[in-house]
Amino acid sequence: MKIHHYQFENPPLPYAYDGLEPYIDTKTMELHHDRHLQTYVDNLNKALADCKRLQPLTLEQLICIADRLPPKLGRTIRNNAGGVYNHVMYFNGMTIENEPTPYEGNGVLIKRIIKTFGSMDNFYKLFKEQALSVFGSGYAWLVMDKCDNLSIITTANQDTPLPQNLCPILVIDVWEHAYYLKHYNKRADYIDDWFHAINWNVAEQRMLSN
Ligand code: MN
Repeated sequence: MKIHHYQFENPPLPYAYDGLEPYIDTKTMELHHDRHLQTYVDNLNKALADCKRLQPLTLEQLICIADRLPPKLGRTIRNNAGGVYNHVMYFNGMTIENEPTPYEGNGVLIKRIIKTFGSMDNFYKLFKEQALSVFGSGYAWLVMDKCDNLSIITTANQDTPLPQNLCPILVIDVWEHAYYLKHYNKRADYIDDWFHAINWNVAEQRMLSN
């Protein structure tokens, strides 16, 4: 992800607020991007305002050193840098432009997913199980390790896969604010909708550029 360093900005969505309808509703996208992500950006900038030596660091560098900082500052950086990173990965990883043939042109990643998980259906089933298993707030990810193996993991709160040296390919935000307006408490229905909104081209680029 190319987000430079302090002062961080809230990057615009790569589509209109209603650009993911009918899968992700307009109001949710407005609040999620303009309020939730904006708050992480603002709080990260506020935390860095008095820390000159941290200001040149990239978002990824901040996330990876957070645990070596004094506890209170470290927690603030970890939560807010993670909040920015995770939301940008999530928003940039969606589109509905590849409907109704989402797999076209995505040979390499899809082939690797099928090789790893047996079939796309089984991948969706396992991914959904993991996304449902997040207790409270967090994310489910398809990630690739340094040996190019794919796996599905979850992270709590605003933690990221970066400290585990894993490259994010796909990510779904399963905090309630991501789906409550449309689906109330039915996270499973939101996950089914999100499967329609995966940007497979972006996912494949993340895999290939790692
Ligand atoms: Mn969110």
